[in-house]
Amino acid sequence: MSNRWKKTLVIMAIAVLVVTFFVFDLQRYLTLAELKTRQAEFQDFYAAHRLLTLGLYFVLYVLVTALSLPGAAVMTLAGGALFSFLPALVVVSFASSIGATLAFLVSRFLLRDWVQNRFHDRLAAINRGVEKEGAFYLFTLRLVPIFPFFIINLVMGLTPMRTLTFYWVSQVGMLAGTAVYVNAGTQLGQINSLGGILSPGLLFSFVLLGVFPLIARKGVEIMKKRQTLKNFPQPKKFAYNVIVFGAGSAGLVSSYIAAAVKAKVALIEKHKMGGDCLNTGCVPSKALIRSAKMLAYGRRATEFGFRKTETEFEFGEVMERVQRVVGKVEPHDSVERYTGLGVACIQGDARITSPYTVEVDGRTLTTRSIIVATGASPFVPPIPGLEQVDYLTSDNLWQLRELPQRLVVLGGGPIGCEMTQAFARFGAQVTQVEMGEQIMGREDPDVATFVRQRFETEGVNVLTGHAAKQVLTEDGEHILVCAHQGEQVRVPFDRILVAVGRRPNVKDFGLEELGVRLSDRGTVETDGFLRTNIPNIFCAGDVAGPYQFTHTAGHQAWYASVNALFGDFKKFPVDYRVIPWVTFTDPEVARVGLNETEARQQNIAHEVTVFELAELDRAIAESEDHGWLKIITPPGKDKILGVTIVGTHAGDLLAEYILAMKHGLGLNKILGTIHPYPTLAEANKMAAGEWKKAHVPEKLLAWVEKFHAWRRK
Ligand SMILES: Cc1cc2nc3c(=O)[nH]c(=O)nc-3n(C[C@H](O)[C@H](O)[C@H](O)COP(=O)(O)OP(=O)(O)OC[C@H]3O[C@@H](n4cnc5c(N)ncnc54)[C@H](O)[C@@H]3O)c2cc1C
Repeated sequence: MSNRWKKTLVIMAIAVLVVTFFVFDLQRYLTLAELKTRQAEFQDFYAAHRLLTLGLYFVLYVLVTALSLPGAAVMTLAGGALFSFLPALVVVSFASSIGATLAFLVSRFLLRDWVQNRFHDRLAAINRGVEKEGAFYLFTLRLVPIFPFFIINLVMGLTPMRTLTFYWVSQVGMLAGTAVYVNAGTQLGQINSLGGILSPGLLFSFVLLGVFPLIARKGVEIMKKRQTLKNFPQPKKFAYNVIVFGAGSAGLVSSYIAAAVKAKVALIEKHKMGGDCLNTGCVPSKALIRSAKMLAYGRRATEFGFRKTETEFEFGEVMERVQRVVGKVEPHDSVERYTGLGVACIQGDARITSPYTVEVDGRTLTTRSIIVATGASPFVPPIPGLEQVDYLTSDNLWQLRELPQRLVVLGGGPIGCEMTQAFARFGAQVTQVEMGEQIMGREDPDVATFVRQRFETEGVNVLTGHAAKQVLTEDGEHILVCAHQGEQVRVPFDRILVAVGRRPNVKDFGLEELGVRLSDRGTVETDGFLRTNIPNIFCAGDVAGPYQFTHTAGHQAWYASVNALFGDFKKFPVDYRVIPWVTFTDPEVARVGLNETEARQQNIAHEVTVFELAELDRAIAESEDHGWLKIITPPGKDKILGVTIVGTHAGDLLAEYILAMKHGLGLNKILGTIHPYPTLAEANKMAAGEWKKAHVPEKLLAWVEKFHAWRRK
């Protein structure tokens, strides 16, 4: 029997039972008045048929709870009145827990998949919470009988909570409330209303009981923190509220926020203020890409109505410009600026010597908390022979002043792709080597193919499915040996740029000695509050992962800083719901949320709407009419699950969708917003229009057509 049929049968069975209950007004038997009137009759029956009465009572109780029918409270009183306290407590406790679990299972069977599919992203955090601490919250809810139990049963069924956990937590959690009602049942004569059973005093006691686990948990947390920190003598006074390690994107924002809320903060940097982003990452790479783009435009002169343009250049001078750009941004991240903001900037090699102390230049600084923001470094794979050649990474690339004639770029990720295209545009013969089946492994295959084709048009030799095995030097010539479909492929080169990923900086500043745990990926392991296993050491940026972007480093920094400073009172879980990123190739590739491949892999019901930039007036006027916007939505809904944009200024266009996703705005809202003509941003509205066109109410329009025809008569 198909699942659909099974569901239909379950729904029909429930409907029949519920309708019977109300049509025959069975509810009248489950009232206090009825119970009191017939108490003697019930007791006589029980005296004559003990086991039968107990059995019938049990089954009836399970049915009432499983079907979420009104009457469980009266039944509990009846139990007390009939069976005396202890037997009634046992019977009711099992019957109510089994009934609640059946209700939980029915709700799960009928609705969970639908609810989880429909509200997938909104429920992600709740699911994680339930998986981690669901039993605890259920226990609290069960202890306080002011929360309607039937709602708890049904809602919990929609979550990933295990059935066994639900059962035993319910059984234990409901025991206190059950005892109160059963006990009341033993003195039925004195009860005049159901409301009267829970006097304000008793209710208050239950609330206290319910709050108790929360207080207990806080207590356990404080104890655990003390336990972890007990081997480290706590200074009498702290010189700082927080010390931040690393003045990259994460460290700068962390210390900025700490200073803004008037905390005393020290920022320790062992190399250069600004970290990777300013010195060896985003800023120099984007400056280099800009110069390369100028050259590329020059080569397209005829497309723009010129006969010819000539650009003479020295690669070394281009690299000097890159440094001038870095120099221009430098003041934003400088010691002067941050000192002015109230941050104590310390240059030097520092060590964390205890959760409360940091040593730098022979001085010991005391602090209440620490934020580790030491970033990541280029990962250099152990390829035999690689160490023997003077390989390049994103760290030393910027010192290059001579353009390599033949450049191998190892890696098809964002850094590899950006540098491949830039160097090819300057005239290097670039071979890009990627082990996976496509470059830009995280993006949809059509996106990767489009970018690859552009690279090939610009003279890049793109080798996917090629695993680098060895570097040889023969007669003074360097050769990269790759394995490809069982064959050996030899790629001669002058310089090789290694861009196969970045490894978190976790060594040599005291983390190992303190026993700070690392994840499988080599990042510092943190909880949802960016706290390490040492409760006053927090972590943000590339060293924490899972993302390695400047904007995520800054985003995490807020949470790390606020939790480090105020976490004893209130902690904020880091929010990863809407994370965008951009690869700055030409065309740019920008993404937020799901792409088509992920939606398929995760079995998320979805529709795809595509708008081609070839249709956009401004893109045509700019001769940039290539690329597309691809929007993922749930079937029939305008809610945005993800967007990929491939095209000129894709990163800037994406901002509107990031905002929309973050604040729950759908495509109809984008369509209803005026976008100035002619701009690239209009593409967003056009894409929303494409979605709308695919969802016109055809049947309604057929009637409207008839209406107009009638009006013409
Ligand atoms: C070529 C390239 C291009 C990139 N382009 C982009 C882009 O376009 N967009 C984007 O979002 N991201 C980009 N990134 C990634 C981005 O640069 C990083 O995600 C970002 O810099 C991470 O910030 P962070 O603060 O975690 O680390 P970092 O910026 O690396 O800062 C860490 C700092 O800690 C210091 N440090 C390390 N150990 C210690 C210690 N023991 N004591 C004191 N200080 C220490 C380091 O010297 C460094 O200054 C790019 C990266 C590269 C390499």
